[in-house]
Amino acid sequence: MKSQQQYSKTFSCEFFPPKTEQGMEKLLITSENLKKEINPEFFSVTFGAGGSTQKRTFDAVTQINQSSGIDVAPHLSCIGSNKEQISQILSNYKQQNIKRIVALRGDIPSGMLSPGEFNYANELVEYIRQTTGDHFKIEVAAYPEFHPQSESASDDLKNFKRKIDAGADSAITQYFYNADAYFRFIDSCEKLALDIPVIPGIMPITNFTSLSRFSDACGAEIPRWLRKRLSDFGDDTDSIKEFGAEVVTHLCQQLLDAGAPGLHFYTLNQSEATLRIWNDLTI
Ligand code: FAD
Repeated sequence: MKSQQQYSKTFSCEFFPPKTEQGMEKLLITSENLKKEINPEFFSVTFGAGGSTQKRTFDAVTQINQSSGIDVAPHLSCIGSNKEQISQILSNYKQQNIKRIVALRGDIPSGMLSPGEFNYANELVEYIRQTTGDHFKIEVAAYPEFHPQSESASDDLKNFKRKIDAGADSAITQYFYNADAYFRFIDSCEKLALDIPVIPGIMPITNFTSLSRFSDACGAEIPRWLRKRLSDFGDDTDSIKEFGAEVVTHLCQQLLDAGAPGLHFYTLNQSEATLRIWNDLTI
């Protein structure tokens, strides 16, 4: 973990683009609440696979940026896109003075016949650097428990290295509930001399059913003991939230105390669960 201790701590919060105006209004209130308490370095807004939320992501990014005055990083996934489409998106963000981007491959939509002009995120990072130089600070994804499609742990690490070699400045991890997975991942990065901040992605626990479904899909593990404890609460959402907050706050504190260079909260557009954790942390 030594390499991570040299970086100052960066805190950030992620949103998804709302589908309705009402949802957007609520999100602006959420971002205001998070700004007041956390004053994050940046907010980020996700991007639907294959560009399905392209306009909504753009609108959310610009509105949150204007109302909060905080940097907002759009996520941009490349699978299914060509260079012209990516270029247009980058140029629109440049015009809005957006300076940070989360560059991803995206999940391959079922039935997709051609990946488009990009196969992997490292190619997107390379293209962003080639066409826009140093304008954007580029974040990429990292997987302490390894990406579900990776052939092996070492291949996944090599692929992570490709993104850094292509010009990524920083990484945000998939969420995890086992701090050791992160510590071991950082040790492996150190052995490969990978030298960028790797910020743990933190998923607050509020709903066991949806968390369980989502975790199976993205390859994040809910440890057996935690799964058992959470499923015991059944429909008692208050107890799930209470216990979840305790567990995730402890995880965050462990990570920060060991030198993690910040935290990235997957807020699911709600401030309550994130702030519950934040307010119990000793930074
Ligand atoms: P890559 O880094 O390209 O890796 C994908 C897989 O390919 C891995 O198994 C890797 O080992 C392998 N690989 C990479 N390069 C090569 C290569 N050159 N040769 C062979 N194999 C290779 N998804 C969305 O759709 N929208 C979002 O907004 C979004 N935001 C996210 C934010 C974060 C912080 C994280 C962690 C994930 C996010 N995702 C999002 C999910 C992400 O798109 C998926 O996990 C996707 O399957 C992989 O994207 P990636 O950028 O990590 O891909």
